[in-house]
Amino acid sequence: MADADTLLAKLSGPLPEAPADPAEVIDMLADGVEPGLMAMPSGRFFGWVIGGTLPAALGADWLTGAWDQNSGMRFATPGTVAAEEAAAAWVLELLGLPERADVGFVTGATMANFTGLAAARHQVLTNVGWDLERHGLNGSPPLRVLVGDERHITVDLALRYLGLGAPEVVASDDQGRIRLDDLGEALDAGSNGPTILCLQAGNLHSGAFDPIGAAVELAHRRGAWVHVDGAFGLWAAASSRHRDLLDGHATADSWATDAHKTLNVPYDCGVVVVAHPEALRAAMGSQASYLVHDEGPGDPLAKVPELSRRARGVPVWAALRSLGRTGVEDLVDRLVRHAQSLATGIGAIEGAEILNDVVFTQVCAAFGTDERTRAVTQRLLADGTAWMSGSRWCDRDVLRVSVSNWSTDDADVARSVDAVRRAAAG
Ligand SMILES: *Cc1c(COP(=O)(O)O)cnc(C)c1O
Repeated sequence: MADADTLLAKLSGPLPEAPADPAEVIDMLADGVEPGLMAMPSGRFFGWVIGGTLPAALGADWLTGAWDQNSGMRFATPGTVAAEEAAAAWVLELLGLPERADVGFVTGATMANFTGLAAARHQVLTNVGWDLERHGLNGSPPLRVLVGDERHITVDLALRYLGLGAPEVVASDDQGRIRLDDLGEALDAGSNGPTILCLQAGNLHSGAFDPIGAAVELAHRRGAWVHVDGAFGLWAAASSRHRDLLDGHATADSWATDAHKTLNVPYDCGVVVVAHPEALRAAMGSQASYLVHDEGPGDPLAKVPELSRRARGVPVWAALRSLGRTGVEDLVDRLVRHAQSLATGIGAIEGAEILNDVVFTQVCAAFGTDERTRAVTQRLLADGTAWMSGSRWCDRDVLRVSVSNWSTDDADVARSVDAVRRAAAG
């Protein structure tokens, strides 16, 4: 694969002075870009947490671009807004979330975390009589944010966007789940003022889920708002085999997830769900005389940070319409089954060790010393059969496997285990 500097040399140069034929431009673009494409859509791509693209979702994404609808208002773009609202209702049903919750389609789980936490910030300050929209955070009552030790970095990022600074960290167990005893102590130790708790459904290394229902109960007793980052893990709710991992998750106040991970729609598509629509709309809504505001279900622009926006929920409609309930359940079950097969296969390689309980789609393996694990990872990437990323977890270098692509099959798993075996022997 060519690197970005090489490709830039081909694609850059002086700004063209005169127009060019669009068809020729597209050919030039493909020539310039395609030598630099990573095989992310492959069934043997197990890096980061990267979904593929379901055929119906890809077609819907092309249509969304061609239709060119600025989908912020129900009145102005009823077609795309209707598809997004239908998709939103299906998402709530599949994820087992309250039917009357508000749904916003945003660019990813980072912005879904931001949006959910913005609604949280509004509500917990309103509860103590502080008018956030008028006064901002200057002089506001102190606001506590509690997170688990292994929350995703984007939770910290979202808190930074919101002016809330660094959160208070609660210890987690050996799988990265927030510890309920420590959480209870942390909640007791502070004041009973405005408090937000962020939980995680799906740890990027272990795939583990925080004990959500029990944690929500502790937090709600003290009037805290609970937000759940379930970027890929929230989809466990669609599977009768795996939904126990999420026990009690519907009692939280807001949830963030991605459609571009487990659901396999094209980038970029995240989903925020908020159980208290008035809090979300107070945080995200804006009124202006030149807009036409919807008095009923509410406009998309009142539920997301953007004003102008792509109808990125349309590919979600197509993905769910093409899979149906059993198709989504099948997809989730297959990803987990493949992760477990990869763990079994890799674990059987001499000198390999699986470090996590493989409860969902993530696997972490080590090969003796950190140095050896890094060498195995490098040889695997050089071999090119499968792509898995190196990382560090629990103070050890690991080979990280994330199964997120709908097209991964048994043959991909077998070939990938063989590739890891070769890399370990090398
Ligand atoms: C991927 C991920 C995010 C961030 O999602 P983006 O779609 O990249 O913005 C947040 N939390 C978790 C647990 C993730 O896996």
